Amino acid sequence: MVSRVIPVDPFDLVIFGGTGDLARRKILPGLFRRFCAGQMTRDSRIIGAARGDMDETAYRDMVREAIAEFGPSRSEACAVEDFLSCLGYVSVDARGDDGWCDLKSALREEEGIVRAFYFSVGPSPLKKLAERLRQHGLAHDEVRIVVEKPFGHNLASARALNEELARHFDESQIYRIDHYLGKETVQNLMAVRFGNMLFEPLWNAQYVDHIQITVAETVGVSGRGSYYDKSGAMRDMVQNHLMQLLCLIAMEPPARFDPDAVRDEKLKVIRALDPVDPDQIVRGQYTSDGAMASYREDVENAASKTESFIALKCYISNWRWANTPFYLRTGKRLSDRASEIAVVFKETPHSIFGIDSGRHRNVLSIRLQPNEGMTLGVTIKEPGPGGMRLVDVPLDMTFAEALGPDAEEAADAYERLIMDVIRGNQTLFMRGDEVEAAWAWTDPLIEGWERRGDSPKPYDAGSAGPDDAAFLINRDGRRWRRIKS
Ligand code: NAP
Repeated sequence: MVSRVIPVDPFDLVIFGGTGDLARRKILPGLFRRFCAGQMTRDSRIIGAARGDMDETAYRDMVREAIAEFGPSRSEACAVEDFLSCLGYVSVDARGDDGWCDLKSALREEEGIVRAFYFSVGPSPLKKLAERLRQHGLAHDEVRIVVEKPFGHNLASARALNEELARHFDESQIYRIDHYLGKETVQNLMAVRFGNMLFEPLWNAQYVDHIQITVAETVGVSGRGSYYDKSGAMRDMVQNHLMQLLCLIAMEPPARFDPDAVRDEKLKVIRALDPVDPDQIVRGQYTSDGAMASYREDVENAASKTESFIALKCYISNWRWANTPFYLRTGKRLSDRASEIAVVFKETPHSIFGIDSGRHRNVLSIRLQPNEGMTLGVTIKEPGPGGMRLVDVPLDMTFAEALGPDAEEAADAYERLIMDVIRGNQTLFMRGDEVEAAWAWTDPLIEGWERRGDSPKPYDAGSAGPDDAAFLINRDGRRWRRIKS
């Protein structure tokens, strides 16, 4: 299958934090791939910006190394050099007054050049950065800004950040990034739901038994312990990534695939979420498995009560989902790295095959990683003679197999989202009110366990999480799906 790549308009993209981990691992290698695909044209420019003193040559050397380490496995050397020739570097302090004139003179004022600023600097300089861009005349009304997570630490800080950004930029200029929304499968979720007649009629409390959303990681938190220990799995993963997945699964069909129509529907889902009782939440913290450090060692805080794992059951109070449980879980240092949304349908109301035929449920599994794709579990007759024995088999649609190498080529979420920024398409970015609504649901849960002084349950590194997480779902007569890479 040949994909049609449409080049985006020429752009000047300034990456504040252009020397940071995210820029080196994701943003710059991603842009390189778009360059190789012909989507980013040679008349575009990328300007790295950070406080560090560095000239253009040193910056290009740094990016060359980043592409070698994190870029496509096979890169033509001449393509790398062509890409690097689009790169510049300016030393500028987002909070101070130095460097802004240099940055201004590095940007083109010609009509038709899209100008975007990627805020990849961590939370503390964000407000000043927005202010400085306006003060120094870099932010005209067509400019776009991309804001990385975390977007606030709670509702109050998210609201304050929204207000600060709104003083300098219109909402239509602000792209709050959640890279989960850039994943091929996540967008395919909307295509499958709203592009087929097959699923939508069954997509409700009458036919769906429950939904599971799992984001399991094998990595721990070493290296980002000081940030993570103030955050925890709820803030770091549930409030944003799992919430976004929940919205896409649960939302009503938007009238059009346009930014506000989609985001209006997602917002309604968040606002319809019930508060969660404390006994429907299990928090965990990984312990050492001998080979690797424990959570507390990783964050260098022997008394930490922050969770590296969370599982919870929640309900959406609306007509479509009344009384349908949504089980969410995410954690670090688990047995496998796997992200999946599973829509578990109800059993047939009556089995014509008798009591020995077993319990069979159709499950639509939407895998975000690894091997992005979807599988629909269906029940069929076990082949061979000997009567009517039933067996569940998967109807598999792994994108890489179904769509060929193009699916692999188009895989990374960041590059897709950056191209959307350049195209001016906000559909896959969070609106300010969505972020605030997500915090408004999350805050009382966090305040609850902080007030009670709850400690997370220990779990073995390399396991599936604490035993209580299994109990959370087993007591409802259901089971977690196996975490499997
Ligand atoms: P990082 O490795 O610590 O890099 C931070 C970057 O910001 C550096 O280039 C730093 O360079 C620059 N910077 C810091 N303060 C600055 C200032 N006042 N003015 C100008 N530049 C400044 O952080 P990161 O991991 O790349 O993360 C960047 C953002 O992405 C954070 O908001 C993070 O939460 C988010 N994020 C990261 C990841 C990831 O995998 N790394 C994933 C998701 C989200 P100088 O020190 O030279 O100024």
